Amino acid sequence: MIAADYFDGRSSRRHPATLGLRDGTVVVEGDFGRRSTALGAVEICTGADQTLSTIRFADGAMCEIRDSAAWAAELAGAGIGADAVAHAERRWHWALAALAGAVLIIAASYAYALPWIAGLLAPAIPQAVTQSISDTVLKGLDGGLLAPSKTSPQRQQEIAAKVAALAGPGQLPPHRLLFRAGPTLGPNAFALPGGDVVVLDELLALATRDEEVVAVVAHELGHLRHHHGMRQLLQSAVVSFVVGVYLGDVSTVVAGLTALLLESRYSREFELEADAYAGRLLLATPASIEPLIDTLLRLEQAHAKRRAADRGGLFGATDLLSSHPDTAGRVNALRAMKR
Ligand SMILES: [Zn+2]
Repeated sequence: MIAADYFDGRSSRRHPATLGLRDGTVVVEGDFGRRSTALGAVEICTGADQTLSTIRFADGAMCEIRDSAAWAAELAGAGIGADAVAHAERRWHWALAALAGAVLIIAASYAYALPWIAGLLAPAIPQAVTQSISDTVLKGLDGGLLAPSKTSPQRQQEIAAKVAALAGPGQLPPHRLLFRAGPTLGPNAFALPGGDVVVLDELLALATRDEEVVAVVAHELGHLRHHHGMRQLLQSAVVSFVVGVYLGDVSTVVAGLTALLLESRYSREFELEADAYAGRLLLATPASIEPLIDTLLRLEQAHAKRRAADRGGLFGATDLLSSHPDTAGRVNALRAMKR
């Protein structure tokens, strides 16, 4: 007989018991009495690491066997060792399948459900909220990566006028053009969720004509039109929040929202969407798509040099380029619009 602990399934009380196999029947004896059950009517689980085996009865009662080796020998003696092992393996397969299923559901939520929900929510967020987020981010940038622009107010107005001429009043998403210098960010422009489009002096220096700057702004307006910044922020926030809950530290996540917005990059899908918007906008005017294509290619070259010096994932720094490894693909998509 093998020493075991018996639980009757009704209380958590542990009954010391002995266990044995007799003619295909499991016999358990202890202070509760004696029960004999056909082997075929119990569920035998061999501990995966051979430490603890269990027998479950149909009525919820259970036996825990610590001396798994003796129990395995008993089973083997009855000619059913292989079955028990197979059963244990089946349980492992189920556990793995369940784990794989859980991973799949999480991955699908991340890839499809989350972007979908963020896409629904982002346009509904009040302007006051997005503007206050933008203000916070801009304030942070102005105190660090951004410096006052050296572009003359007159030139700023010229560019603003050309952007405004892209479409009739009311057709462009609400926005405000801001000019800054961004020595560490290089030639670039980026849109903040509230509608501020920041154009860097370095971009003006790189552009050979105003149309190129206007084309880049049109691309940023595309990000605004499709609420990409807010969608990105919502997705990152949800992911961080879930991770924060899991790790038990939500406060740092909330405090890190600004960093989140700065560090996240737009997906390729967002970039293509912004390009498509810019393309339509440019084609609807006497302007053409060529300046946007020219700028993309030139920026690619300029940023390739900077990448060699390794710049990180600030989306302001990367909006136009680093997140766009596929410049050729984007250029092709824009050229296809012309036809
Ligand atoms: Zn972009």
